[in-house]
Amino acid sequence: MMLADIRVAIGSSAARASRDADTIQLLAVSKTRTSTEIEAVYDRGVTSFGENYLQEALEKIRALESLAIEWHFIGPIQSNKTRDIATNFHWVHTIDRPRVARRLSDTLAQRKRTIDACIQLNVDREPQKAGVMPDDLGALVAEVRALPHIRLRGLMVIPRADTDPRSSFARTRAIFDEHKATDAPEWDTLSMGMSSDFEIAIEEGATMVRIGTAIFGPRPDKKALERVVT
Ligand SMILES: *Cc1c(COP(=O)(O)O)cnc(C)c1O
Repeated sequence: MMLADIRVAIGSSAARASRDADTIQLLAVSKTRTSTEIEAVYDRGVTSFGENYLQEALEKIRALESLAIEWHFIGPIQSNKTRDIATNFHWVHTIDRPRVARRLSDTLAQRKRTIDACIQLNVDREPQKAGVMPDDLGALVAEVRALPHIRLRGLMVIPRADTDPRSSFARTRAIFDEHKATDAPEWDTLSMGMSSDFEIAIEEGATMVRIGTAIFGPRPDKKALERVVT
């Protein structure tokens, strides 16, 4: 798929759901991609990029400093990496426990910065997966909303790999709506949908789709990648 095709597909999915395509943001997921590849996509009008691996991301953020890129951290957060995330990213999608939220907030306060954020929800209750369990979400929302330097905007989800994602997206949307109607009226971001399922995610209410492979082509296999980035 080319970038132009993705934009058309976003428009068609939005139309099917009677939504305005302008309310859906494309986040280009650039993990494993070079600065040169990112710059080529930037030149075609994409300004938001998502990265999963901190060391790799920091190098690219530095190399592309002169471009007006909005950087999103979308990988699992290790507590000892919060300082670099708070210092270098505009958005973080993967807050899933109070400890990382507090640590991010401490650094942000020192730096006099604010970060936009989503809480990652483990909507399918998968044991090994990152993300807060649905039962613990309410308490985490209250904690994060009380932190002055984190602007909590909504939820991020990665559905179970082996089932139809529509139900996971729909349940996430329902939980999002519940919070928006009660304790988090300012929420405006539902980060869901990747290359293989972004059209379904948009039909179910996504406001931000995170697309890697469909923009950049297939990634190197995971084992080879781990040797490069760890
Ligand atoms: C890699 C990744 C994506 C993009 O996946 P593609 O299938 O390449 O589009 C989106 N979100 C997260 C959290 C990812 O790690």
